[in-house]
Amino acid sequence: MNVNQSAPPVPPFGQPQPIYPGYHQSGYGGQPGSTAPPTPYGAYNGPVPGYQQTPPQGMSRAPPSSGAPASTTQAPCAQPTYGQFGQGDVQNGPSSTVQMQRLPGSQPFGSPLAPVVSQPAVLQPYGPPPTSAQVTTQLAGMQISGAVAPAPPTSGLGYGPPTSLASASGSFPNSGLYGSYPQGQAPPIGQAQGYLGVQTPQRSAPSQASSFTPPASGGPRMPSVTGPLLPGQGFGGPPVSQPNHVSSPSPQALPPGTQMTGPPGPPPPMHSPQQPGYQLQQNGSFGPARGPQPNYGSPYPGAATFGSQPGPPQPLPPKRLDPDAIPSPQLNELPPQQKTRHRIDPDAIPSPIQVIEDDRNNRGTEPFVTGVRGQVPPLVTTNFLVKDQGNASPRYIRCTSYNIPCTSDMAKQAQVPLAAVIKPLARLPPEEASPYVVDHGESGPLRCNRCKAYMCPFMQFIEGGRRFQCCFCSCINDVPPQYFQHLDHTGKRVDAYDRPELSLGSYEFLATVDYCKNNKFPSPPAFIFMIDVSYNAIRTGLVRLLCEELKSLLDFLPREGGAEESAIRVGFVTYNKVLHFYNVKSSLAQPQMMVVSDVADMFVPLLDGFLVNVNESRAVITSLLDQIPEMFADTRETETVFAPVIQAGMEALKAAECAGKLFLFHTSLPMAEAPGKLKNRDDRKLINTDKEKTLFQPQTGAYQTLAKECVAQGCCVDLFLFPNQYVDVATLSVVPQLTGGSVYKYACFQVENDQERFLSDLRRDVQKVVGFDAVMRVRTSTGIRAVDFFGAFYMSNTTDVELAGLDGDKTVTVEFKHDDRLNEESGALLQCALLYTSCAGQRRLRIHNLALNCCTQLADLYRNCETDTLINYMAKFAYRGVLSNPVKAVRDTLITQCAQILACYRKNCASPSSAGQLILPECMKLLPVYLNCVLKSDVLQPGAEVTTDDRAYVRQLVTSMDVAETNVFFYPRLLPLTKSPIESTTEPPAVRASEERLSNGDVYLLENGLNLFLWVGASVQQGVVQSLFSVSSFSQITSGLSVLPVLDNPLSKKVRDLIDSLRAQRSRYMKLIVVKQEDKLEMLFKHFLVEDKSLSGGASYVDFLCHMHKEIRQLLS
Ligand SMILES: [Zn+2]
Repeated sequence: MNVNQSAPPVPPFGQPQPIYPGYHQSGYGGQPGSTAPPTPYGAYNGPVPGYQQTPPQGMSRAPPSSGAPASTTQAPCAQPTYGQFGQGDVQNGPSSTVQMQRLPGSQPFGSPLAPVVSQPAVLQPYGPPPTSAQVTTQLAGMQISGAVAPAPPTSGLGYGPPTSLASASGSFPNSGLYGSYPQGQAPPIGQAQGYLGVQTPQRSAPSQASSFTPPASGGPRMPSVTGPLLPGQGFGGPPVSQPNHVSSPSPQALPPGTQMTGPPGPPPPMHSPQQPGYQLQQNGSFGPARGPQPNYGSPYPGAATFGSQPGPPQPLPPKRLDPDAIPSPQLNELPPQQKTRHRIDPDAIPSPIQVIEDDRNNRGTEPFVTGVRGQVPPLVTTNFLVKDQGNASPRYIRCTSYNIPCTSDMAKQAQVPLAAVIKPLARLPPEEASPYVVDHGESGPLRCNRCKAYMCPFMQFIEGGRRFQCCFCSCINDVPPQYFQHLDHTGKRVDAYDRPELSLGSYEFLATVDYCKNNKFPSPPAFIFMIDVSYNAIRTGLVRLLCEELKSLLDFLPREGGAEESAIRVGFVTYNKVLHFYNVKSSLAQPQMMVVSDVADMFVPLLDGFLVNVNESRAVITSLLDQIPEMFADTRETETVFAPVIQAGMEALKAAECAGKLFLFHTSLPMAEAPGKLKNRDDRKLINTDKEKTLFQPQTGAYQTLAKECVAQGCCVDLFLFPNQYVDVATLSVVPQLTGGSVYKYACFQVENDQERFLSDLRRDVQKVVGFDAVMRVRTSTGIRAVDFFGAFYMSNTTDVELAGLDGDKTVTVEFKHDDRLNEESGALLQCALLYTSCAGQRRLRIHNLALNCCTQLADLYRNCETDTLINYMAKFAYRGVLSNPVKAVRDTLITQCAQILACYRKNCASPSSAGQLILPECMKLLPVYLNCVLKSDVLQPGAEVTTDDRAYVRQLVTSMDVAETNVFFYPRLLPLTKSPIESTTEPPAVRASEERLSNGDVYLLENGLNLFLWVGASVQQGVVQSLFSVSSFSQITSGLSVLPVLDNPLSKKVRDLIDSLRAQRSRYMKLIVVKQEDKLEMLFKHFLVEDKSLSGGASYVDFLCHMHKEIRQLLS
């Protein structure tokens, strides 16, 4: 999407309308900007006591510095495992032509029992939604048992059970498979019908999906089914360790009795088909013998991993990515019997990989046409095109459910949050058109007189077209004469398809002056680059690198579609504990510096010559950028200020009467005497205490006040951090967060290691299209209303989301609640209106409309949910919750809500079955696995290596992530590189994020939008090692390598291309880390194998599923 590529108002759309006098609606019900808060810092434009002007003929050295020589003792460098950020690329993942074919039918692993799941969703892509017809696909009636399972074939890697693709062609492979399955005949799981919309209304069999685990107690058992060992249930066996986790300890560290039988040389084999002789485990499972995991304080029933009892505080954390700081597994500390347990076959529980792949196969081939109310779109991981036929594209809006309960009682019962994740300026793939721009001339956009909703396809024209009834508030409005049009025999305006606002879900209106601040059309925005030139910034080479880059980057400022040059003006400030402004007026031979040392009372010492056009002032700017690194080369100033820098940038924009963006490049905790001064208050002892929340709270309210002023001015702040130690991200990110800006963090920045990542992020950030000085309002039809908002913005009232800046990556999540009864017939409508200033200074309104269904049957709700969006909402809800609640309370809340959602389904929607079975709705069968990933994320359950700044950083990143980004962030993609034929050009099919899925003869890429790992198995073929690394053996591979050598062979090229392609899909550059099996660095990598138990105490997927089952049973009993 490019708001600047305003599709020309192509006929038949968008003819300017004649003036309609007397229809002026001021935008958002008031004088925009009139609510600007009083400035708390007093006047800044008065007489200026504190600056000296340097001689006009050139630059002087920096003012005398005050600090002591910089200390060279650095805290251990935390590597930037964060600092990259998953982008919901609009393409959403790889091509849908997934290669992997699955055998139809049975469970190859012969797992007699497998829990699962699946209430098939009924969903026709392009037809009216079924009301009561319930497609009941019995997917996988597998059950879990403690019984010994037959040996699995040793071939067949961990891709989950084969599943028929027949469903993709519309057949109904599960016919006759209702009820439970005899052992060994488990049906395929994760069937595709869930999204394909196989319509079999005549099939009225119970909607039971699949069964899971009848535990010891409980209702009638299915034949030949026994329960898995659940916490507190009497199975008599010893407590067991996690079943779903292969540890790869060094052989000598194995406890007695472990059955690791690898050759002495290379590390023991992992799950690999080439390794013969998996021995039957005591627990009835198969696979290589597993050593117990280190640091798992309690056996499964000890619920330390679940919300209520967090592990003990982790003292003295080593920093992330420091290999020496990562403890080796202390395998001997665990009794050997812990490795035994009755296990659930991991292949039999719902697999994210399978669900993603099924959706790609079923929904990636046809465009998603938005003409029908309440359609659930394809998953974010599916690559699909969208055709706008009256509802906003899922690229702009995704909902947790597309069918809303009619009453609040129903909604409360189900506990399914009703929320929309809105990305108003989302970028679109080239194949999809940007929203049309409609110009209604001086009369401005047509709106409802009462609720101010904008004209949209759902407005009902009546009385021969002379009036229209508002679809949001039912008010009858007159149609202005110049907008009048006759209706056809169906009551539709005959020009409906000629007007975007009558036929499309998304479009833009040109705003009139009524929508502008002070009733004045805005000036083009400005960018101000504010560069920390303290000792640390100079020493690392950052300042030199940045100045060099800016010389060329300034040619790529965002511009309107056809414009030859950007309308954006630029300005430059450098600072340490004082600020230096630069006059770069084109008429000067050399730039001039002005120093403001009175940081307590910040003002802008010059107006003329500060903000300039790049082309006009190019010579002076280039000269400045050449001189800055030299000027400060010998600085010994280590102290910095921060708030005054933002204050100065904001004042400069205010003086220039424009909106804009500040790009701050900052290195350290601002401890110099100035407003916003901070102290180091990091204290990891607070983790898992009631005071943990203070780690996420800003340490002073000064930044909120400052942010409020920035918002009033349309001043968005992007912050690039280069910390060597704690910088209090929680406080420094307040202004970026409240102004719609972005934060980037490069811990222990070194030019040689981090240059590519920083420059890549910077280029993208500077070039991306931004809407400035924006206000967003979400209107709803009668019965529901927006009650809560999540994202990077500011709100001064309960309805208007104010965004100093909004780019195409940012989302605003809106939660809805009932305030009245909804109607099945009329459904529910959302209209998101974003008023913003484009990069060229044009004031516009972007409108997105979405119609949802309403239901009186809970089953309809559960058939039309979208788990990825649900998780996006729940993560944001939880991440905000940690600001004011103990983290464990937040985790408990998530678990309880999830259990309530699933219990309500079980009670009201699933067919009668054994109480011991876990039955999940098809649409939500991944809810437990994904929720578990949220629960064990660094914010909610930090590992010892995660810093306070890391947590604050991730917390604020997730707040504005879209659904695709949260999806991959919480459940990383793990791609095997050497399994598919080398000539294959498609992305290899992913495998589940578990150590069990790793073969030690293979090489894998893992990415989560922020991090990128290349994992090399210890038994990988020598040829592969040679091809990728140009060394002759595994042992010679450099662990921690961040760049693969450029080698002229197909494998090397393929892997490097794949890495490039993954990076291109994300909004932040992912730095590569090469990890060798058995290497210390591997612990870092394992942190992302989210189906496994985590070192910080996070539950494995299987364990969590059991726990969730127990919670549900408690709710039902
Ligand atoms: Zn209305």
